[in-house]
Amino acid sequence: MQFYRTEPTAFSSWRMAILMGANTRTYKFALGHALLALAAEGRDSATLAEIAVPYSLAIAQHSQQYPQAPRAGSLGEADYLSIVAQEADDTLTAGAATERLMAATVRSMPGMVMSKFHNLRGTDGVPRPFYEMPDRSAGSLVRFTPDLRQVAQSPYMPVLQQELVTRWALVESAFDADIGSSLVRSGLLVSDDSELVLDLVRRAPVAQTRPAPIGFQYGRCFYCRTPLDGLLVDVHVDHVYPYSLMTTGAWRGPDLNGVWNLVVACAPCNPAKSNRTPTEAEGRRLIQRNEAILASPHPLKRTVSLLLNSWGHSSTSFYRWVDDLAHFRD
Ligand SMILES: [Zn+2]
Repeated sequence: MQFYRTEPTAFSSWRMAILMGANTRTYKFALGHALLALAAEGRDSATLAEIAVPYSLAIAQHSQQYPQAPRAGSLGEADYLSIVAQEADDTLTAGAATERLMAATVRSMPGMVMSKFHNLRGTDGVPRPFYEMPDRSAGSLVRFTPDLRQVAQSPYMPVLQQELVTRWALVESAFDADIGSSLVRSGLLVSDDSELVLDLVRRAPVAQTRPAPIGFQYGRCFYCRTPLDGLLVDVHVDHVYPYSLMTTGAWRGPDLNGVWNLVVACAPCNPAKSNRTPTEAEGRRLIQRNEAILASPHPLKRTVSLLLNSWGHSSTSFYRWVDDLAHFRD
């Protein structure tokens, strides 16, 4: 969490909520999506019913892609999810939530997600909250903070949107029974062209690679620290330890196509780096980046820790391990 606290901006707070918050459910992604959409329109407040419009539509769309997991939910949540399942078809046909789904959403949102959005495990919550909790009536006004408007109205907003969508897909795929258990066993890799994050066992695409690590790098190029373009144009996925090391047979570490070894970089840095091994500073920065992933709830965390554990390296011994790799450097 230190990683984010060093830049106590509205953007870091947003990323803490989306990337680092406990993800036992995916409702927070739907709420994040709704908040960004409303604040991007210039709104500084919205009623619960207004927030429920984009929120419930997003939940209905996702319910068609993956089961909304949690079998051990509270009775209220089980009720909500069964209403989502029953109303999803009509909602998607109409392009807006049915009356029944809207009513259930407004009723459940405050307790299920709005009271939890800012929570972080083992801390006081995000440093800069994005709204003030209303009472629970449909007409009560949720006031957005200036931090939410800053985040939603910045040119960087599309990246935050992509991050949210990516995180949502990763978390849902981990909840999905079959994919979930294979993720637990084997973790995530990337496709040969580095464009897609894959479920290792089924080789099925789970999400796009680019937005997956970007939030764990403060949205900056891994090498030169320049903030990356708001539309992720000319942003490259790079292997910090070059993939070619594996083809020579000299490499004895974890799979270099694993998420642990992938970073995003700006266009000038990526070709410049090409096939060289990382400097010591870069190796340490990779550790920091991976520790940020390890501090976030699954599934990227699980992927990184699995790969490291499978080689007998816990995150705490990771420093020593990277020192052992020094002979791979130029
Ligand atoms: Zn760069």
